[in-house]
Amino acid sequence: MISIRDLSTYCRVDAEKELLVAEALRHKSEKHLMLSKIELSEKAFDDFCCDVIELTKYCPKCHQKFPQEENFCPDCLIALKTIKDVDVKLIESHPQFNLTKPNEYCDFDEIFSRENFERIDAFDFRVRDYNAILKNIKKSSIQTFESLINENEILLDELSITDKVLLYSKSFVEVDYKSYGAQLGYFNFNKITIDDRLVKSLQITTLIHEISHFLLNEIIAQILCTILDCSKNALMESIAVFIMSYSPFTRLIDEYAAHTTEGRFTVYGYQDYSSFIEIEKSLNGEMSRDEIEITKSIGNTFAISIKDILESYIDEDMRADINELFLNEVTDSPNYEMLALENCDRLTREGFLKAIWLVISEGFEMASQNISKLKEYETYF
Ligand SMILES: [Zn+2]
Ligand SMILES: [Zn+2]
Repeated sequence: MISIRDLSTYCRVDAEKELLVAEALRHKSEKHLMLSKIELSEKAFDDFCCDVIELTKYCPKCHQKFPQEENFCPDCLIALKTIKDVDVKLIESHPQFNLTKPNEYCDFDEIFSRENFERIDAFDFRVRDYNAILKNIKKSSIQTFESLINENEILLDELSITDKVLLYSKSFVEVDYKSYGAQLGYFNFNKITIDDRLVKSLQITTLIHEISHFLLNEIIAQILCTILDCSKNALMESIAVFIMSYSPFTRLIDEYAAHTTEGRFTVYGYQDYSSFIEIEKSLNGEMSRDEIEITKSIGNTFAISIKDILESYIDEDMRADINELFLNEVTDSPNYEMLALENCDRLTREGFLKAIWLVISEGFEMASQNISKLKEYETYF
């Protein structure tokens, strides 16, 4: 069995994160440059153009826009649709992420069999299995995203950056809004709750942060199903939730992965560092400084996969839009002190597989001793 400390030989610098953090730190010496607001804003410019010819229809195939009196697209020879004002907030979604195998477990005792403990010990899990899981998750989310766009007749280019991210989020989880409490948002059993009193850019970063928590749970559930060669169901999802929440070690991985993913899609230094500092504090000397840093590196490595999934849609242009909105709305300076302490390491492939083994085998063992907790989780799926 491998220990956290053994993983240190597999740590390498994550050049991308290091560069982003260095860039954010460089701003310390420069004064924050705000975009000039005197220029005619894009919205005002659009309004101005609309006064000339109002384009109220679009071609569902090539997405060209047309004035009201047109009925067909001359290029695609297809009937035009009216551009609708959609309230993305109100769109309901029920995303499904399936992994189907011939075998499916129906009670926890069957799952925690001697044979399955042997499977976990043997850990016949390769990089190609991991990549197949990422591909499966991407495929499911894109299918949901596509049907959300089609069913609601959405012209994606017409949406604001906030609505784009919100609609995309709904292809992973259900999104609910709240107007109370101090938390910006939280993720619980495949559902995100977000505070609608937040400025738009913080709603975006919160969505990305909470989706990262969802995706890490989903990755862990699918790894578990791959190793045990069974279908994913509420029981397997409950074990994954347990694994990512029962110990400070896995909670720190989870929180740091979400923190790092959030930073990559916005600006480093502005995140809520307290989310993982709290976990570090709760350790009470349980883990050494080195062990904490390796644990963060595991979180960083998972963040690379999460980022890869999210980049199926959120490309560089959208990232630039998020950044611009963020720097316009959030005027305080980043947390330079914490920024300087960012962990910028990732694990090699071999080290990452060993880390997954450690997370899964320790977690599976502990889960087997907490079946009442698992049964409680199961009711939420
Ligand atoms: Zn057309
Ligand atoms: Zn979090």
